[in-house]
Amino acid sequence: MPSLTTQAIVLRHADYREHDRMLTLLSPSMGRLEALCRGCKRPQSPLLSASEWFAMGEYVFYSGKGHLTVTACNLTETFFPLRTDYERLKYATYLLSIAEAAAQPGDRAVELFTLLARSLGRLAYGKQDERAVAAAFLLHFSAVSGYRPRLHHCVHCGKKLEDAEICLFDLENGGLTCPSCLENRLHTRPVRPEQVLWMRDVLRQGIDKTALPDHDAPGPLLAEYVENRMEKPIRRDGLWR
Ligand SMILES: [Zn+2]
Repeated sequence: MPSLTTQAIVLRHADYREHDRMLTLLSPSMGRLEALCRGCKRPQSPLLSASEWFAMGEYVFYSGKGHLTVTACNLTETFFPLRTDYERLKYATYLLSIAEAAAQPGDRAVELFTLLARSLGRLAYGKQDERAVAAAFLLHFSAVSGYRPRLHHCVHCGKKLEDAEICLFDLENGGLTCPSCLENRLHTRPVRPEQVLWMRDVLRQGIDKTALPDHDAPGPLLAEYVENRMEKPIRRDGLWR
């Protein structure tokens, strides 16, 4: 029987027949994949927890006729506290949507998987503001996706930027713009110097180590930047209000 095993996180599920679910998962070695989870909606099913949103573990699939079916799961994490905090749940769900939009079937996604697992852990168990955790995810996501923003030099003329003159972020070109290069204001957004320092510090040493305040995390800007680069708008109703 052809079977395969991989670590995975459930990105979403859809009801399928009376007792089954179709899962969308993110695997570090296989990217995004779809798998049928038979009988998981029965109360006694050993796969019930493994078919929930955010479930993470080692999944075993039967592969036949081009379709995957979950046959077993060694669950390692459910990020359960997310289910008791609606605010944190909203941001966690947004991160799943970004991961689903970015991951491709069959493409390795080791960095994305690690980033998602860590960010969900921070949202479930950490004390940091959920808006800052989500902003840090987006910032690192842009870096692992190949469009790390340029935060030290003007994206147009290359001039080194002094902290005091930093004022605009160019969404199309992926970084800061100096005051002399403002001919195209359509795709620029204002950004405070404190927000630039936050992004630089979080990219350098991670959100766990930064001493800069959570309220300087430019969440909406980074969400717009990432979604613009992916060319996929992601629903974020009620986020960053
Ligand atoms: Zn310039």
